Amino acid sequence: MAGMKQFKILVTHPEIPSVAIRKLEERCELVICPEVPYPSREQILSKISTDFDGILWLSKHRMDKEVLDLAGPKLKVVATVAVGYDNIEVVEAKKRGIKVGNTPGVLDAAVAEIAVCLLLEVARRVPEGRNCILEGKWEAVRPQWLLGKDLQGSTVGIVGLGNIGQAIAKRLLPFGIEKLIYSGHKRKPEGDKLGGIFVIFDELLKQSDFIVVACPLTEETRHLFNAKAFAEMKPSAILVNIARGDVIDQEALISALQTGKIWGAALDVMTPEPLPSDHPLTKLKNCVLAPHLGSATEKTRAAMAMLAVDNILAALDGSEMPAPL
Ligand code: NAP
Repeated sequence: MAGMKQFKILVTHPEIPSVAIRKLEERCELVICPEVPYPSREQILSKISTDFDGILWLSKHRMDKEVLDLAGPKLKVVATVAVGYDNIEVVEAKKRGIKVGNTPGVLDAAVAEIAVCLLLEVARRVPEGRNCILEGKWEAVRPQWLLGKDLQGSTVGIVGLGNIGQAIAKRLLPFGIEKLIYSGHKRKPEGDKLGGIFVIFDELLKQSDFIVVACPLTEETRHLFNAKAFAEMKPSAILVNIARGDVIDQEALISALQTGKIWGAALDVMTPEPLPSDHPLTKLKNCVLAPHLGSATEKTRAAMAMLAVDNILAALDGSEMPAPL
């Protein structure tokens, strides 16, 4: 029937780029959670009913058994608008025959740019220097004032040389780094191509001047960076995290930064998010913070939304999703 929508989709946030919404609307009736800046989990749950074919999950809340129970047997697909899926109960969904997709690849460059940006900011103490200007404490006449760390000639260790880790490595190599090492489950051909050396995690901790965390949050990586790890790192080392806050034991990080166990840190992700403005992390001069900006560019967010929409439509058409989990 002309004009009849084939499917019904729940969209869990109102701020989906319009190009993606238009594409979805061509074939689907949409129910969109309207709350800004962010629908609560309860607000999302209150919208779920048993007549949805798919859910576009743009939320840090958990997509779990409770969500799936509320949606019932009609639900065919959940597409998360993110590459990390630590908040999505993929196994539970699949057990019920529900397809799950994410958005890898399209955000690698944007996240890598943030990683490089944060790494340079902390190494060259740019936010700290800006604060000195604002506080009237510009002491540039002193030759030993606000000295940073060189990226050139350094050893960079990447924890998780996946799509984003590789994009970061590619961008750091032209800075003239001395050595690229990485850890993970196995040596990778992509690592060989980049001239990277696969090492065990302990070795990476010991050798690196800069460590960039780009692995997923899993039971194995939760608090991978704990007091023991910080004790193994060089006192001159800088830690950059663009993965997930809980890969780092934040209490241990704060203590390591306060006591000079490590030199500095830069975090795009932390716990909790949003971080309270008076949190101890915000008091540290040697810690640069960004409010989870990794994929936050206009082009990237649109590409992520389009990929999520393509995942939904492919799953509902019974064809292969472009980015299945
Ligand atoms: P990916 O392509 O799947 O790469 C992840 C890599 O981590 C894989 O190569 C994996 O390889 C490795 N890994 C898994 N467990 C590890 C461990 N215990 N130690 C070291 N490496 C491990 O994923 P991606 O697209 O690069 O994304 C990585 C993560 O970045 C996501 O999961 C997400 O949490 C985060 N992220 C953050 C932002 C942001 O806005 N800040 C944006 C996007 C993504 P092996 O299993 O072979 O080791």
